Amino acid sequence: MGQHDQGNATAARDTCFRTMLEALPSPVLVIDRSDRIVDVNAAFCALCGNDRDYWLSTPNESYLSPEQLARFTAEHAQVFATGEDLETEEVVVGHDGTLRSVVTRRRRIECEGEPLVLTVLTDVTALRDAETRARYLAQHDPLTTLPNRTGLNEQLGALLASPSPSPVALLLIDLYQFKDINDAFGDCVGDALLRGFAYRLAGIAREPDRAARTGGDTFALLIDDCPDAAAAADACRQALALAEAPFASPAGAVTLGLSVGCAWAEPGVTAAELHRRAEFALYEAKQQPANAFCLFDAALAEEVHTRRTLKADLRAALAAGDQLDVHYQPVIDASGTRVVGVEALVRWHHPTRGLIPPASFIPIAEANGLIVPLGEWVLDRAAAMMARFPDIALAVNLSPIQLRSPDIDTHILAILTRHGMHPRQLQLEVTESAMLAVDALVETRLARLRAAGVQLVLDDFGTGYSSLAHLHKLAIDRVKIDQSFVRELGSSQDARAIIQAVLGIGQSLGIGVTAEGVEDETQQLFLRAFGCHEFQGYLFSRPLAARDAVTFLEARTERAAA
Ligand code: C2E
Ligand code: MG
Ligand code: MG
Repeated sequence: MGQHDQGNATAARDTCFRTMLEALPSPVLVIDRSDRIVDVNAAFCALCGNDRDYWLSTPNESYLSPEQLARFTAEHAQVFATGEDLETEEVVVGHDGTLRSVVTRRRRIECEGEPLVLTVLTDVTALRDAETRARYLAQHDPLTTLPNRTGLNEQLGALLASPSPSPVALLLIDLYQFKDINDAFGDCVGDALLRGFAYRLAGIAREPDRAARTGGDTFALLIDDCPDAAAAADACRQALALAEAPFASPAGAVTLGLSVGCAWAEPGVTAAELHRRAEFALYEAKQQPANAFCLFDAALAEEVHTRRTLKADLRAALAAGDQLDVHYQPVIDASGTRVVGVEALVRWHHPTRGLIPPASFIPIAEANGLIVPLGEWVLDRAAAMMARFPDIALAVNLSPIQLRSPDIDTHILAILTRHGMHPRQLQLEVTESAMLAVDALVETRLARLRAAGVQLVLDDFGTGYSSLAHLHKLAIDRVKIDQSFVRELGSSQDARAIIQAVLGIGQSLGIGVTAEGVEDETQQLFLRAFGCHEFQGYLFSRPLAARDAVTFLEARTERAAA
């Protein structure tokens, strides 16, 4: 073949290669040793704009920044030198001026003895956008658009891992009894309130992603550079102030209450630990009325820890049965000698903590439902003991949680039957707040117990809502004046007035009245002068262990009989 023919063949092959290059759907770019673009295809021009002539004639530095240019040169030098493929991802300006994410795969090729780099580009913008969207969705709450728990953790992790971390505060904010609002007004109103609160919360966040919705009605606020606990407390007050003004909703203006738990920590604490502390604090704040905040500290940690251990211990004690005991405190009539009743009071002899007062463990038992088996255990014990004193009333405390437990009436009556005790001998002591929450179901259970002869006693009267008007409606047989009034009898005119009022109403409604916590004779004299006929208190007897109670009761019964 002559030189001319050879030239023709090369030209023909070039045209053929060019045709193939143009036909490729992927954008392709060819670069020579001096980083000059020697070829691009139509797909490349479609992606990056301009035509082939532009790319072949325009120097790189006119469309690449100095940094891009340096990287571009270094990467090509690497491919030329090593002959190994190189894959990178870059952002380029697309033909329409938008930013495109592009994966570039570079390979060294030889073309008629000349080394070149062939670059094939893949536009991954849609993929990256989808990934970004997925990441956004995974880290944000669609209702409020705030970061969710995952998003918050990401923020928190970044803050704690920063090279110069500062003390941080994490606030967890719970909308007080939000479930009730949701139930009362419906989800639509609930959603509007959540959005309204989220908007206000985001308004006090120092940076956009520092306010989050971490649960149904729980929000969080993350504060970096919070110098001390006092500053954290200020942040809590600021958060509480968010709900001072009512929120607009489809049902009109609604006022929300908040509970805020806060953990403040020096650098070094882990995100999980900070969360745990804030949750402790929130739990504590939620035990208080609305708009309370609680800062985590070591004492709180200890308290929460104790409560948790006690819960497990109580469960075990109930299963074993040998640490729990029932004591009996006599109730005395106006003569001051005759026993008319006893109140069963549970006692817990903890193997390592010693005697734990019921005021400390009844709330724990109530919080996890253990109160139902515990209450039945107490009644069973007390009925076994008191069945042999049929003329002496047995008073047993009944927690509101027990009232809400299905079949509680059947269980109580079955226990009495088992011990041969007539329901008339039993008095169930409930508190005022328990009686206020009575619904139709509870009412049916109470009515069944009353129909069988069980008496209902309102305990600690005066400490709750003190609605005397309720007494009649609630079909109460007796009230117990709380010991706080009896204690103040000698010193407070108000206490005397309240006691007199209760006794007066009791008389006119035919409801018996017992005074609790009678500790001295002056109190007894006052009470008797006001017309009170039943007393319970240390003046007559402390709560007694079963054996001592039997001795006490037998002596009194004998004395009364003699
Ligand atoms: P409560 O039903 O009002 O019981 C009276 C409490 O006052 C008892 O405390 C009793 O020991 C105490 N007390 C009696 N007389 C005096 C006195 O003269 N002075 C003083 N300062 N205190 C007196 P306790 O036994 O510690 O029980 C506390 C509370 O725990 C009870 O208050 C009751 O609400 C609850 N509780 C006790 N046992 C049970 C139970 O078996 N079930 C339920 N649900 N609650 C119980
Ligand atoms: Mg009681
Ligand atoms: Mg009481």
